[in-house]
Amino acid sequence: MEQQVIKCLIIGSGPAGYTSAIYAARANLSPVLYEGVQPGGQLTTTGVLENFPGFPDGIDGQQFMDDMRNQASRFGTKVCNGVVTSVDFGKIPYRVTIDGEKDLLAHTVIISTGASAKYLGLEDEKKYAGMGVSACATCDGFFYRKKVVAVVGGGDTACEEASYLAGLASKVYLVVRKPFLRASQIMKDRVMKNEKIEVLFEHNATGLYGENGVEGVHLVKRKGESDELYYDLPIDGFFLAIGHTPNSDVFKSYLETDEVGYIITEPDSPKTKIPGIYAAGDISDPHYRQAVTAAASGCKAAILAERYLLEHSLL
Ligand code: NDP
Repeated sequence: MEQQVIKCLIIGSGPAGYTSAIYAARANLSPVLYEGVQPGGQLTTTGVLENFPGFPDGIDGQQFMDDMRNQASRFGTKVCNGVVTSVDFGKIPYRVTIDGEKDLLAHTVIISTGASAKYLGLEDEKKYAGMGVSACATCDGFFYRKKVVAVVGGGDTACEEASYLAGLASKVYLVVRKPFLRASQIMKDRVMKNEKIEVLFEHNATGLYGENGVEGVHLVKRKGESDELYYDLPIDGFFLAIGHTPNSDVFKSYLETDEVGYIITEPDSPKTKIPGIYAAGDISDPHYRQAVTAAASGCKAAILAERYLLEHSLL
């Protein structure tokens, strides 16, 4: 029996994926969406989402994603569980393999696999995973009420996480490898004015220690300089906020990426160099990385997919 070809296959379930699903479903593209490793994406680990227009009092990140999923399903999106393990974009229809065993064929594919938090690559990050190491302050900050924590990074994420944690913890060290913060002025000011936050400029973490969980961090100040200083700092929690890695590995043999791994698309468009294949949301956005911009690019991708299907008489 001939395998059915999906008109619009959406990979990923963050704001980009679900917005494209809502638009594709309402345009009768019968979209099929695969949720991926983290159903709902990064927002499910956010506390309250305060900057998405239309929610004057904010909305819980998990609730927001549940609502998006329900909205996509209401219009007929088939939401499936599974992770894309390989693709063949070399011939039409495009082939996408789920969990290494199930092959799907699709006329159009919207890639919205997002980005994942980066780690320093220390052995101790693995050793103490779930025992004092976290890459999400809003998810795990609660466990550090009145405790001492360190946040690594000097960008907006690090400043945001440090400020958030300062509302819970008794003390927050911000470990910054450069002699300055690269965050936006408003976030810098917020951190520098907060009495609970101490910024450790020109510091790197080299390891962690503790018997049954993190009890401290090994630090080096001004590494490689004549006044280089190694010392230990007692902490209860170690938070990473050093950026994100786009989840694009599986697509790299067919699509162009930048040096970090973000999929390169046409300017201001989710179009990739392969007709019918689109990249929406954080997977192709090193600049904005906002729920609202991701949703907007998901909308564009669905509209482009519809036009492609119409032009090729596939609708
Ligand atoms: P960034 O890439 O902006 O910053 C990463 C930070 O981590 C930098 O200070 C960098 O140091 C540091 N870093 C990276 N690797 C290491 C390492 N191995 N060891 C120590 N430090 C390291 O990432 P963000 O996640 O902060 O932000 C990404 C984008 O999202 C930005 O455009 C940001 O403006 C935006 N954003 C906006 C927010 C808002 O507006 N509310 C909130 C969060 C993010 P160095 O400076 O030395 O490279």
